[in-house]
Order: sequence, then structure tokens, then C-alpha cells
Amino acid sequence: METLAHLAYRWLALDLSAAQQQAFQRYLEELLHWNQRFNLTAIREPEAILTKHFLDSLSVLRVTGCLNGRRVIDVGTGAGFPGLVLKIGCPFMRLTLVESVNKKAAFCRHMVAVKVWVGRAEDLGHDPAHREQYDWAVARAVARLPILAEYLLPFVRLGGAMVAQKGENGPVEVQAARHALEVLGGELEHMQGLTLPSITETRYLIVVRKRAATPALYPRRAGIPAKRPL
Ligand code: SAM
Repeated sequence: METLAHLAYRWLALDLSAAQQQAFQRYLEELLHWNQRFNLTAIREPEAILTKHFLDSLSVLRVTGCLNGRRVIDVGTGAGFPGLVLKIGCPFMRLTLVESVNKKAAFCRHMVAVKVWVGRAEDLGHDPAHREQYDWAVARAVARLPILAEYLLPFVRLGGAMVAQKGENGPVEVQAARHALEVLGGELEHMQGLTLPSITETRYLIVVRKRAATPALYPRRAGIPAKRPL
């Protein structure tokens, strides 16, 4: 099995230190262990976890650059993807995780001393301690882009950006999100396609820059963004 360090270097031009490699090894072991009791991830093969979870999450650094010193929020992190992986990659980033399912949040807390908020993004998005406070808001596999933008953009400071990790549907979702981005104060900056080993579909990193304050009305009540997307 190719090591994560080799994969990260070959596919993302990232150098992982010995300490980072150890942290990823522990993450892998704990994920496999917890997964026997709780369904944290459907991907259970160690090799697949390295590529489909760790490497794919690290790919966010291709568009953000090094995140040390930056305030980052990961919405719907599940078992820590991409947020916890990015924290191992950039240990000095200031990370907040948001996850509505308790046991997944508990796993993230068990892994690293990070702030984990258990609840819905729609609620936290109105808290002044979090609203428009982040340099980056990130998410993977949480919702279609028009919905996701309503979850993420309220957290982003003016001039900051959100990154949505998407599969082959990325370009179609960007088209569908045009109205939502305009309403929420976002502007599509960049869409980077990339291929990763043993992931057959093209992956897309969609970067939306915050150009204007998000109107106070958004995000709407929990559940409404998904029920009535902008
Ligand atoms: N991001 C992780 C990944 O890529 O493996 C988890 C993806 S999982 C399919 C989606 C996660 O988002 C779930 O754990 C769910 O509980 C959480 N989630 C969905 N909508 C949410 C919301 N509005 N606020 C907070 N968490 C949410």
C-alpha cells in the first residue's frame, strides 16, 4: 500500500512531516476502531480511507494555500472531513467544526482539541461570535451548492471565501447556484478540477469569494434552505 506521505507528495505536491504522518496513522486507527461501534463512514478499507478521505480532504489546500493562522470553519464535518485533516496539515489554523450528529462530533473532539459545535449551521450562522468571522468556510458532501452557500457564506468575513468540495456535478451545481450566490453576497472566483488516485470521477474545488455582507435574513430557519433552495 502506498503511504499517505507518498500520495500527498505525488498528487498534491505536499510534504508531510514525520509528526503529521503519525497523526494520520492515529486518525486512521481511531476511525476504524470507532467505526465498529458507530457508523462514522461507509469507507472501511484503510487504503480507501487514505485516498478518499485523507488525500481528498488535503486537496483543499490546493486552492486555499497554507491555512496556518487562518480562521476556518468546516460545516457538516462528519468524522472530520475535510476539517480535521486540514488541521493535521496546518496545525496552527484556528478551526471550528460544525456537526449536527452528536456521536460524530464526539469522535472529532476525541481526535484533536478543537472547537466542535453540535447543531445546525442555520442556527450558528446567526451567532455574532461566528457570523462573518472566518477567513474560510469549507464543506464536503453536505448539500447541493445553492443550499450549501446559504450554510457557509454567513460565516465568511468580507474578502474571505468558501470552498465546496464537489464531484462530477460541480459545474452543473455552479450554474444552479448563480442566484443564491448573488443574494448571499458571494461571487464565483474559481473552479478547479482535479483527479486523485482510485477516485474515478473528476473532483471539483469551488471557491466563492465574499464580496458583500450576507443579508440578516440568511440563513433561514433550520431545514428551510434544503426545503426551499434559493
Ligand atoms: N463532510 C463529511 C465527509 O465529507 O465525510 C461528512 C459528510 S456527511 C454525508 C454530511 C454531514 O453533514 C452529516 O454528518 C450531517 O449530520 C451533517 N449536516 C448536514 N446538514 C447539516 C447542517 N445543516 N448543519 C450541521 N451539520 C449538517
